[in-house]
Amino acid sequence: MKQAFDRVLLIEDDSVEAALIRHCISSFAGARAEVDHVQRLAEGVSRLAERPYDVVLLDLNLPDGSGISNLHRVKAAAPTVAVIILTNVEDQEGPVAAMAEGAQDYLTKRHMTSELLSRSIRYAIARQEVETSLRASEERYALALAGARDGIWDWNIEQGEIYYSPRWLALLRLSASDAPPTPATWFDRVHDEDRAGLEKALDEHLSGATPHLEYEFRIRTGSGQVLWAQCRGVAVRNASGRATRIAGSLTDISDRKSTEALLVHEVLHDALTGLPNRSLFLDRLDLAIKQHRRDPRRQCAVLFLDLDRFKAVNDSLGHAAGDEMLVEFAKRLRMFLRPGDSVARLGGDEFAILLNDISGLGEATLVAERIHDMLSLRFAIAGKELYATASIGIALSGPEYERPGDLLRDADLAMYRTKHERTGSYTVFSSRMHESLQRLELETDLRSALERSELVPYYQPIVSLEEMRVIGFEALLRWFHPVRGLIGPDEFIPLAEKGGMIGPLSWWVMQEACRQTHAWQNSNPAFSDLSISVNVSSRLFSEPEFATRTLAILDRTGLKPQALHLEITENALLQHESATIRELTALQETGVKFHLDDFGTGYSSLSYLSLFNYDTIKIDRSFIAGSAGSHRNRRIVDALLGLGRVLGMEVIAEGVETEEEAQKLRDLNCRAAQGFWFSKPLPSESAHALLVREHGRHLDVTMLHPNGGSPDN
Ligand code: C2E
Ligand code: MG
Ligand code: MG
Repeated sequence: MKQAFDRVLLIEDDSVEAALIRHCISSFAGARAEVDHVQRLAEGVSRLAERPYDVVLLDLNLPDGSGISNLHRVKAAAPTVAVIILTNVEDQEGPVAAMAEGAQDYLTKRHMTSELLSRSIRYAIARQEVETSLRASEERYALALAGARDGIWDWNIEQGEIYYSPRWLALLRLSASDAPPTPATWFDRVHDEDRAGLEKALDEHLSGATPHLEYEFRIRTGSGQVLWAQCRGVAVRNASGRATRIAGSLTDISDRKSTEALLVHEVLHDALTGLPNRSLFLDRLDLAIKQHRRDPRRQCAVLFLDLDRFKAVNDSLGHAAGDEMLVEFAKRLRMFLRPGDSVARLGGDEFAILLNDISGLGEATLVAERIHDMLSLRFAIAGKELYATASIGIALSGPEYERPGDLLRDADLAMYRTKHERTGSYTVFSSRMHESLQRLELETDLRSALERSELVPYYQPIVSLEEMRVIGFEALLRWFHPVRGLIGPDEFIPLAEKGGMIGPLSWWVMQEACRQTHAWQNSNPAFSDLSISVNVSSRLFSEPEFATRTLAILDRTGLKPQALHLEITENALLQHESATIRELTALQETGVKFHLDDFGTGYSSLSYLSLFNYDTIKIDRSFIAGSAGSHRNRRIVDALLGLGRVLGMEVIAEGVETEEEAQKLRDLNCRAAQGFWFSKPLPSESAHALLVREHGRHLDVTMLHPNGGSPDN
């Protein structure tokens, strides 16, 4: 063990103490020992980086650093140097902590003597050496363990020699004679693309920037095969922290790498056809879109393909035949690819092609045509000859596309068009298609809206103009869409009719409105004559047993038939059979009333009025709004009121928005009206509150006029 020392670094800001220590050292070591003295920690750290020292005498109280962190900085600069802490008498805890953190000894400045200092330095150096060799042997032990499986290498950096263990040579299929103990034996075999990375990792560890070396690289074996290898190593450093030796292991990780590669492939490819899947396709499309955004001349297009009648192949020839067809189709699609293009299977019988760097739409439609030509060649599947067609949608890159999913969606939408209009051809996407997409989405949402209680009936009062009181309500449906917010019936009722949901929806509204009205009627004798108007779509009449179901609802809710008013539009009965008319008439005979809604907006031929014996006509709001000002509208309203009187029908004016309009209608002897002037459609609680409020007003009036004065309007 060394214990002798040549170089001492003294880091101490107090120059008197420093002179004293210098004196002590020279008294026992004489001229042999070189003592460098610095007053600041930063200076000390930079000295340590410049040259090796045997021991550092360190004050924990310096102008640019104090406490245990001084020790940490010294050890970081020179991990293997021995450190003695210089302390003051008052400081009891500092040195103890410093010993625990890796200092080798400590001295109290006031009690310092040459003898104590000399002994401390020797002790600290000896202790540091033991610690270093202990660590090295631990490392060697760890290496030995790893060596059973892995190759071991041990590199003497100063001599430029590497020892390669027999296992290392065996892994690389090398015999000792083709493997001189030089770095070249290893590094010359490393794959060109990995060499710089390995060298960098090595440098980083040797310079102390990383705690150990670990790197994965490809390496060529003696038999010419390429392995994936992982090396690990730890440097052994001299007293000044410089790496003199580095030793470690080499592991063959080819198996792990190929499983990884396989997994990556599996995650990004379709198992049946081996084509990229949707997520890989979207990745590539993303790159193409970014390229287009940087340079708009570089366009790309997506072709979305869907095999026509694929289900029929599956059903008639079996799934194996279906699979065979898809594989064959995929093979043919690949033929269209130029190097930058991609084809992917998105799922089922859906495929997508990305055409990169094209000059414009023309190129994309050309590919679509060629795909159709290619499909016209027969497929030999399951011993049968088949012909296939595909519907294609095309979307071209443009500034409006930021996300790959959007371009793919638009190509899909265009394909959908093809399917519906011209199966087996292609369609180029246009932004108009979005509207139909939105309708489609809304239609889907509407299916679940009932279950999710997003549909709510609102109630708009119908008032008697003579008495100015509520005589009934019209139920008007509202949809509170979770994303789009409030949607009006003019938007979703047609969707419900088209999508076949109008039945369940209408029955639900009727049931709910009847239940609500009956509850209001029961809440106060003054409300017992309230009526409820429910809009009935013409689609509902075609439901079998329309009358029976309506009566069942009345039965269930306890509402009198006279209180239920069904609103149907002029055109609703046009295409209906006499059976329907008979059904409605039967219902009418039970007491249910029929209102002709929006009168004046449909065919408005008087002869249609004779188709069915309506109880009431509702004059459409287009004749009311502005009727106060428009002479012509006023005359129409007057004529319609006259018509009602002649035919024995009640009349309700819709869309009364001002006091003036209400007054004019009253002058014309119109008895009932509905409109914003009186109230907008209200949620049920507000409608009830309105009833109660209005009733209160009547009560007050009756109290003022005990003999039955006319209510105060
Ligand atoms: P509608 O049956 O003619 O209902 C009257 C419409 O006029 C309502 O529109 C009402 O809010 C609106 N309105 C009432 N007073 C005024 C006013 O003073 N000024 C103006 N500008 N408008 C007024 P809403 O609620 O949007 O309903 C539209 C249509 O949707 C209804 O017209 C009806 O045909 C249909 N509808 C509503 N609910 C249902 C339902 O449950 N089933 C069916 N099949 N159709 C319904
Ligand atoms: Mg109506
Ligand atoms: Mg109406």
